[in-house]
Amino acid sequence: MKIDILTLFPDMFVPLTESIIGRAREKNIVDINTINIRDFSIDKHKKVDDYPYGGGAGMVMTPQPIYSAMESIGAKGKKVIYMSPKGTTFNQKIAMDLSKEESLIFLCGHYEGIDQRVIDTWVTDEISIGDYVLTGGELPTMVVIDTICRLLPGVLGQEESYMEESFYDGLLEYPQYTRPSDFLDLKVPDILLSGNHKKIAQWRKMESLKTTRKNRPDLFRKYIQGKNLSKEEKIFIDKILENKVDF
Ligand code: SAM
Repeated sequence: MKIDILTLFPDMFVPLTESIIGRAREKNIVDINTINIRDFSIDKHKKVDDYPYGGGAGMVMTPQPIYSAMESIGAKGKKVIYMSPKGTTFNQKIAMDLSKEESLIFLCGHYEGIDQRVIDTWVTDEISIGDYVLTGGELPTMVVIDTICRLLPGVLGQEESYMEESFYDGLLEYPQYTRPSDFLDLKVPDILLSGNHKKIAQWRKMESLKTTRKNRPDLFRKYIQGKNLSKEEKIFIDKILENKVDF
């Protein structure tokens, strides 16, 4: 996958050189380039923002440098994502869909945002990472890129790594434990040491359902209404709904 990021602050993208994403870049699974919007400003002082028409606080990013930057990378016809609090809220399903694209272009806003004509001309998708406002689109872009890249084939060790994770099947993940089995007298649940894979899977499903109901009742409702539940799941869900399990 090829990713271009249009930003005023290319130095902020160091985190995408580390750890799993850094290794994915070394293995050429993903090619990530930053493009400094300021380099394209034709203003003699390399200005990239101006006062908003109609008045109001703050500055707005001007169209010219972004138009020229988009043209320089041949963005016409490509998927261009503007990170914005006004966008569709990002989730695992959107990440899955985006991970199937051959190339993505991210546009990071700053200050009060970007002149609307840029959005109308170049942007295909507006994505928000949540109902709060950050100072710029750089951190949101990294959140989205990190999420997408770990879904690309070859980035994680095993496909199951993400197939068993939160949101993949509509539920939050079960609790995880590792060695030692007894730490300061805090014990790993016996079932996980039993070697009985069927019982472990049942325990994990029950824990997933319990956590989802507690922390994300919206997801829990959707899960129990929207899917062909197995007989076993129905029994678990009935127990949870009748409060016959501990929380
Ligand atoms: N005036 C804008 C508004 O009220 O919608 C907020 C602008 S914000 C201070 C500056 C930039 O940060 C935005 O252009 C966008 O690129 C980015 N940004 C801020 N919050 C974001 C969020 N929740 N999701 C994605 N991008 C965000």
